Amino acid sequence: MNVLVINAGSSSLKYQLLNPETGDLLAKGLCERIGIDGKFTYKPQIEDKAKLDAVDVAMPTHNEAIKAVLDALVDPKNGVIGSMKEIDAVGHRVVHGGEKFAKSVVINDEVMKAIEECNPLAPLHNPANIIGIKACQALMPGVPMVAVFDTAFHQTMPPVAYMYALPYEYYENDKVRRYGFHGTSHKYVSQRAAEMLGTPIEKLKIISCHLGNGSSVTAVDGGKSVDTSMGFTPLAGVLMGTRAGDLDAGIIQYLMERHGYTIEEMLTILNKKSGVQGISGISSDFRDLESAFKDGIERAGLAVDMFNYGVKKLIGSYAAAMGGVDAIIFTAGVGENSVSQRMAIASGLQFMGVKMDPEANKIRGREVVISAPDSKVKVLLIPTNEELMIALDTMNLVK
Ligand code: ADP
Repeated sequence: MNVLVINAGSSSLKYQLLNPETGDLLAKGLCERIGIDGKFTYKPQIEDKAKLDAVDVAMPTHNEAIKAVLDALVDPKNGVIGSMKEIDAVGHRVVHGGEKFAKSVVINDEVMKAIEECNPLAPLHNPANIIGIKACQALMPGVPMVAVFDTAFHQTMPPVAYMYALPYEYYENDKVRRYGFHGTSHKYVSQRAAEMLGTPIEKLKIISCHLGNGSSVTAVDGGKSVDTSMGFTPLAGVLMGTRAGDLDAGIIQYLMERHGYTIEEMLTILNKKSGVQGISGISSDFRDLESAFKDGIERAGLAVDMFNYGVKKLIGSYAAAMGGVDAIIFTAGVGENSVSQRMAIASGLQFMGVKMDPEANKIRGREVVISAPDSKVKVLLIPTNEELMIALDTMNLVK
């Protein structure tokens, strides 16, 4: 079975064609500058097939972008499938499912309406996801489509974890609550962790650390998300590449008054100019910060230390929330690659049974146990694969 996975943004669209039964990736790529001039990238994963790198393809709308994807996939010379009939289903990444979607769903008219109703919760993302779905429906009539939500995995959180201490009517009338994001990633790596440890997920207490440009930490008890660090929006939680993470809301009014900022300017500061970028004044990329610190720039070191400290505090609080922890997972750009940050985050946690194996930890981007054999809590490095998770959910729903 082949599943086309689509992640549509307002002016870009990422795609992968996968076989979820084998986990094989057939091709992947990217459409960029949709509605502007159109750049198309296609990377077949089969030997002897040529790739296309940011070639000009007119893409006035997402329809032309999807058309370019399908043309490339079935191209007689460099395609990876014989015809469109070999695409059995399409899995769409949708950012926000609100409280309506606790699971992935097969898309029909009613589901489309419900996704649209979640638009106010993710005004930058959901409308683009919907455009991507509609473009696929127009070009691939009759092919089953599935929506996989970033928020769905976290719908198992109890009220004590998802409520904000605001007047209750803002939850009832305005849907203000913690939703959490990166759910597809946290779900994938926690399932893989259970498989790696050979223990049913129902018996495991897991803390999943998705540490990338955007970062979130999730407590997964018995396979269910019970708390997560991102909130009503992805601005909450640990500090990130350019996002501030949790902060005292009083600071917002104080700075707006002192500097005469509009709310848009303030949000740009919180979303785009804060985090490790804001602290270091150097970069949002942790690799740059590591080398800047080696060159003697103290604030680069402070930024990384603040990030590691923030993640460590979340691990401690989620262990307390679950009454223990069996496994800690590191994933995404920083979690998969930064030997030193994994070590820094885990090294203060000996008191709760976390003992790292410094040699095993000297590795990048592979599934491996990086705790010592006698560590009570297992520490795992698991590369995330959101596209495979989307393809698996899609297969399971359309089969
Ligand atoms: P996104 O949230 O955009 O999906 P990724 O999960 O791809 O982000 O993570 C990107 C981040 O991973 C980069 O900003 C970079 O800081 C970090 N990263 C990648 N490789 C390394 C490395 N070798 N050491 C430290 N950080 C790394």
